[in-house]
Amino acid sequence: MVAAAGIEVGQDTWFWAGNMEAEYTTNGLTKMLMQRTVYEECFVLKWVSWVPTKCLIMAWRAEMDRIPTKAALVKRNIGITDTRCPWCNCYEETVMHVLSDCLIATNVWDGIGRWCRLDPIYAFEIKDLLEVYKSMNGSKKGKKIVHGIVIVTMWSMWKARNDSIFNGKRPNVENIVASVKSITFLWAKSRLKWFGHVKRRQTMAPVRAVENFIVEGRRSRGRPKLTWEERIRYDLIELHLSEDMIRDRDSWRPRIKVKDY
Ligand SMILES: [Zn+2]
Repeated sequence: MVAAAGIEVGQDTWFWAGNMEAEYTTNGLTKMLMQRTVYEECFVLKWVSWVPTKCLIMAWRAEMDRIPTKAALVKRNIGITDTRCPWCNCYEETVMHVLSDCLIATNVWDGIGRWCRLDPIYAFEIKDLLEVYKSMNGSKKGKKIVHGIVIVTMWSMWKARNDSIFNGKRPNVENIVASVKSITFLWAKSRLKWFGHVKRRQTMAPVRAVENFIVEGRRSRGRPKLTWEERIRYDLIELHLSEDMIRDRDSWRPRIKVKDY
């Protein structure tokens, strides 16, 4: 932070680069940091605890244009000649193309948008995807879930893209959307593990009695009293998970066992 030396008549003096007229002060430093627009322009990715770290890191790197798309590799002089998207074979493979503009990506976002009941998702930059939750209606918790789902979607698409490049796999929109749901389900399963068990029993079975048990205990003021079932249903509705999926063990089981993520 030492200012570049200049030759002047008189005694040599040190100046602090943050404030060329005075010595270093913490106030001066604060002022300098506030003035530096570069800090204000930095996008800060909102972290989500239930989202696997590798998904968060991938989304964070994508926003900074630091994922090795073909276009990025060419910029770094890595000898590839064909920079076309492996999915559509038409456009240059940039971060925006593979995660937003390609027909496969658009269809995946359509599927995710429908599942989460969101308005159509349009993005001009990666940041727009990572801020989808800000413009939606819903509770703070609902927004957090949607934000997590967006991050998981980006990661799932990048994984599918790598599968196409390295293993020659054809992209499958339904599979990508299903993998996003599965990862979200893992989270739901750990929170709602009783739900599947209770719902599979007959209505009159003793275990169902628990559903009418009013949840007592500490509750923040002003919130309506919810029965155990209502509480769980509320969670599921927010996640837009289907109860039918829970009744059917065959579909529930494979969905909660997600390998290789
Ligand atoms: Zn494409």
